[in-house]
Amino acid sequence: MSDALLGPADVRTLADRLGVRPTKTLGQNFLHDPNTIRRIVRTAQLDEGEGVLEVGPGLGSLTLGLLAAGHPVTAVEIDPVLADALPATVAPRLPRAELTVVTRDALRLTELPGPPPTALVANLPYNVAVPVVLHLLTVLPTLRRGLVMVQAEVADRLVAGPGGRVYGVPSVKTAWFATATRAGAVPRAVFWPVPNVDSGLVRLARRDPPPTAVSRADVFAVVDAAFAQRRKTLRAALAGWAGSAPQAEAALRAAGIDPSARGETLGVVDFARLAEHRPS
Ligand code: SAM
Repeated sequence: MSDALLGPADVRTLADRLGVRPTKTLGQNFLHDPNTIRRIVRTAQLDEGEGVLEVGPGLGSLTLGLLAAGHPVTAVEIDPVLADALPATVAPRLPRAELTVVTRDALRLTELPGPPPTALVANLPYNVAVPVVLHLLTVLPTLRRGLVMVQAEVADRLVAGPGGRVYGVPSVKTAWFATATRAGAVPRAVFWPVPNVDSGLVRLARRDPPPTAVSRADVFAVVDAAFAQRRKTLRAALAGWAGSAPQAEAALRAAGIDPSARGETLGVVDFARLAEHRPS
């Protein structure tokens, strides 16, 4: 696999040739360390030949790692310069690789061409990492698992369980779709340009959502309300959601939840049950 991968000199040469000036708004920090790329591909624990969705292939660092390991890759890139250049980067290095490039904002993705990928493997743009993960798990039910690289603090939030300081909306909404676990750390030095933060790998394993009589949107509405004022008791924080504080208290009691508790103590199953008791 090594020969095909991009090292520091390759990344700089490629960027120069394409006239790419990495932008912060698109979270353009490119991997230039073949060891890290190999580690990510290994850590993804993909099945042989499993189809992968990669969001933000950039110059192709991780894409080449996935393709070299024998995985068909569907790469969704928002930057047309990078998207257009990708096939020409891959072809001479891996002539038989199965690569499909889609030039699109991953947040606007509703479907993909070709056989549906079952794994998401991506070094995600920092500023939209959580919305991208939640959107893809929503619109692409064939995704069974994933390994995503995100800012270290975001990784902590994605995997957090109830009660922790960093547990919040991203933790609960991710838990609706998947079990999320930490799968290692990635230092900032393996990127060009070097970002201000370190990164973390998060493994996602799709699971069935908690059983509930209401919709996902209804459950997410109470999650958003509970954490909008996370220092308040649920009785106070959910007054707007329920219509009034007494109605919030009644709904909480009906769901078997202490009205003086805070949102950060509830798990996704509790929120699913609570959403069923919203006053109509
Ligand atoms: N995968 C490459 C690597 O590891 O070197 C690049 C990763 S870089 C952190 C993030 C990539 O996501 C950039 O190529 C950027 O242009 C792209 N990107 C940013 N926002 C996006 C979006 N909403 N949809 C799709 N791609 C996006």
